[in-house]
Amino acid sequence: MKKKDLSRRKFIATVSAGSVAAAVSGSATATAFGNISIVNNNTGKLAILGGTPVAPEKVWPSWPYVDEKVVEEIVKTTRSGIWCRIQSANGTVTRFEKEFAKLMGTNYSVCTGSGTQSLNTAVEALGIGPGDEIITSPYTDPGTIQSILVSRALPVMADLDPDSFQVDPEDMERKITSRTKALMPVHIMGQPCNMQRIMEIAKKHNLKVIEDSCQAHLAEYQGKKLGTIGDVGCFSFQTTKVLACGEGGGIISTSDELMDKCYTVQNHGTAKDGRTKTIGSKYRMNEFEGAVLLGQLPGLKERHDTRNRNAKYLTEKLKGCPGLVPQKLYEGTTAGSYYLYTWSYKKEHFNNAPREKFLKAIAAEGISLSPYIANGLHREPWTDHIITLPEYKLMFGDARLKKFKKELYLPKCDQVCQDMVMLWASGPLLGTYADMDDVINAIMKVYDNRDKLNSI
Ligand SMILES: *Cc1c(COP(=O)(O)O)cnc(C)c1O
Repeated sequence: MKKKDLSRRKFIATVSAGSVAAAVSGSATATAFGNISIVNNNTGKLAILGGTPVAPEKVWPSWPYVDEKVVEEIVKTTRSGIWCRIQSANGTVTRFEKEFAKLMGTNYSVCTGSGTQSLNTAVEALGIGPGDEIITSPYTDPGTIQSILVSRALPVMADLDPDSFQVDPEDMERKITSRTKALMPVHIMGQPCNMQRIMEIAKKHNLKVIEDSCQAHLAEYQGKKLGTIGDVGCFSFQTTKVLACGEGGGIISTSDELMDKCYTVQNHGTAKDGRTKTIGSKYRMNEFEGAVLLGQLPGLKERHDTRNRNAKYLTEKLKGCPGLVPQKLYEGTTAGSYYLYTWSYKKEHFNNAPREKFLKAIAAEGISLSPYIANGLHREPWTDHIITLPEYKLMFGDARLKKFKKELYLPKCDQVCQDMVMLWASGPLLGTYADMDDVINAIMKVYDNRDKLNSI
């Protein structure tokens, strides 16, 4: 059923996109996609005011990705009785680790039970713990912060570059103290941070770099895969991510020595030689998760290319709408993972209508766009919790913790939280150009009717 759907979609894509597809596969220039193709009458009445919706019964390609190969791998694993990675030297997790490393261009990778566990394993393996500080972004999944807290280090948050939504390297540098041991940039939306500046700053201050690449599978910056630029890169395979197995994580590094340490940490402190040597929780990935990941690999690159092609198409065709500014990509960005496709909503171009009214009008047209992170993590209660803990008081002292609280004023992050509009991209960006046209036409229709937005 699913397979049939997909091939039908592909067929429609080929037929309806026609010459556009040819233009996209060549070098995409500013005019590669031509003018905005208006399928519906953009000046028509807004659906929320009783007009006809642009896409009344929109069905997106589903996510997570499932096909017969994925099902087959799971059944094989179930029948084999090899459910835990240490039962076999050639189980699904070990085989996936090899394939993932090959994809990333590293010698090996280590899998864990989640992105959060991968990040925590990296923190531990780098020897970072009580009394140490790691500078990261407030605009991220709670797992980023928790991976630091679990090791009883202090997550210090830097403000954002409001155009790229990425952590601002200059603010990271301002927040370095004598206790800072590492920078943890988060490649948000699966797009690269300003890694050039981050690596310069890390070098200058002798800091480690842990790339939170949990959203950034296969993304590339200056010819390198994200996760291979810093000392270590951590990935998530949670259901929504573009490579998914329910819950899972992966670690890569160009240092084999560090990878050995990561293996030991995630294996309850027990090294490959069987000796229990260090501190580490048990974060091992199980063989069922490995099986799903193996099943997802064959079409991974193709889906990645499709998302990038569709993202380019959206960006080009929406240039006519100044009210939605796409996420700024730093120079050197050659491919994103497009976990999410995001814009800043500029209400001054929408007759000053608040974002919520815009989203309501778009939803009525049959297209679901939404806010992303409601609050930066600097606004969550954990910041009050940790400063009351005896161990944090003991390790950092009152003066440092007071400064930590004071530095939680991150206005650019607050602004980004307020202005962000996103399209979930893992599934939707696998659609056809006709699907993208629905998004474009819904946005352009609302834009053309912006004078009516405040009345809805
Ligand atoms: C998903 C995610 C994580 C955590 O990964 P889990 O697998 O959910 O533990 C960390 N950072 C970012 C940016 C993420 O998107």
